[in-house]
Amino acid sequence: MNHLPNSIEARDAAVHMHPYTDARALQQNGPTVMAKGEGVHVWDTNGKQYIEAMAGLWSVGIGFSEPRLVEAAAKQMAELPYYHTFAMRSHTPAIELAEKLIGMAPKLENPMSKVFFTNSGSEANDTVVKMIWYRANAMGQPQRKKIISRIKGYHGITIASGSMTGLPANHGSFDLPLPGFLHTGSPHHWREAADGESEEDFSKRRAQELEEMILAEGPDTIAAFIGEPVMGAGGVIVPPKGYWAEIQKVLKKYDILLIADEVINGLGRTGNMWGSETCEMQPDIMVSSKQLSSSYLPISAIMLNDKVFEPIADESNRIGTFGHGFTGGGHPVAAAVALENLKIIEERDLLGNVREVGPYMQEKLGALTAHPLVGEKRGIGLIAALELVTDKQAKTALEKPGALGARVGAAVFEAGLICRNMGDALAFCPPMIITKPQIDELVGKVEGALDQVAGELG
Ligand code: PLP
Repeated sequence: MNHLPNSIEARDAAVHMHPYTDARALQQNGPTVMAKGEGVHVWDTNGKQYIEAMAGLWSVGIGFSEPRLVEAAAKQMAELPYYHTFAMRSHTPAIELAEKLIGMAPKLENPMSKVFFTNSGSEANDTVVKMIWYRANAMGQPQRKKIISRIKGYHGITIASGSMTGLPANHGSFDLPLPGFLHTGSPHHWREAADGESEEDFSKRRAQELEEMILAEGPDTIAAFIGEPVMGAGGVIVPPKGYWAEIQKVLKKYDILLIADEVINGLGRTGNMWGSETCEMQPDIMVSSKQLSSSYLPISAIMLNDKVFEPIADESNRIGTFGHGFTGGGHPVAAAVALENLKIIEERDLLGNVREVGPYMQEKLGALTAHPLVGEKRGIGLIAALELVTDKQAKTALEKPGALGARVGAAVFEAGLICRNMGDALAFCPPMIITKPQIDELVGKVEGALDQVAGELG
């Protein structure tokens, strides 16, 4: 054990099983225990300061110390600390948040008209699957239940959302995906295009592969396609030119619903309020969480259009209920905090900041592609990744996948910067309040870590 007996780290390792963690490594090394946050910074219990360049888990959009969210929570706690929205009940925070989200939704051919609240991105996506199955039955199409997602897509970890996720760590040992969940190719041009294949041609090929999958399965068995406008946890993959236009052509041809997973993209991250706007998508369902409350409290929201809602409403009337919902769904305190958070995003024009500071971060990180260990910089707005390589030509890293990412990630952490190594990619998704001098500091720390590891590798 690398931590002192009875230390906070030892106490954690003794009793606390962590998500997304090597449990044995945690027992051996203990966690880093965080104690406080302010703006774009957090401090651990030893007093060390870090720039939180992942905004927690892509989520603390407005920064770590907003008193207005504390006040909003306290006020709601005092007034009505809990109520639910089952069986013809409601409360003002849920109503106001739903109105606000419908007002903020993109201007679409089939506009979003209803909001259903859940507590996490995974719960929201699981709920979406059940809504789609319920709708198919309502429409007399019980065979139309399959859902297509993408390799490298991330939609959560519950049984259904984990089935839609397209990453090996979420499948193998968990016996996922369930039958009926299909995965088509990722939009990662740099990694997956053929030699000399343009972005446009690659996009067309991906759409053609999607159509082939639909035809092979039977178009009348496919209910929906889910995608993050810009992929997040799969490595921050910005779709290549023409990608969503080509994909949507195929979906339209076979009347397949489009679900935009906006859990990371939403509320400003890509330089528009929604990734669907950035990527010119026409979703039927949009899923939002994380920056919805800046993760001060757990909450997620599913927005749907009438095409989705109406058959569900009819079926619920026929049966007597839409038999689905969570005790904490649309929790009044979380909803009040989310509402205040959205007001702050608008009042402080954080979208304006993303548009101003985002290109600066992209340019500064982009300059690091001159470094021998950086193969590609990807990103848009205030979300980015560097793909690390040891051989730029072959686009390969160290023999063990993820080892180079882990080494550079550790050096970055040591330097007081938190980013996320996902395989051999390093991701950046700082709070949307970050300034240019803070970005200079962030990029300086990354460069220092890259130099250090390059030096060690010789
Ligand atoms: N969808 C996307 C795009 C995500 O990035 C995540 C989490 O990172 C989820 C869904 C799952 O959200 P949660 O961790 O709140 O269940």
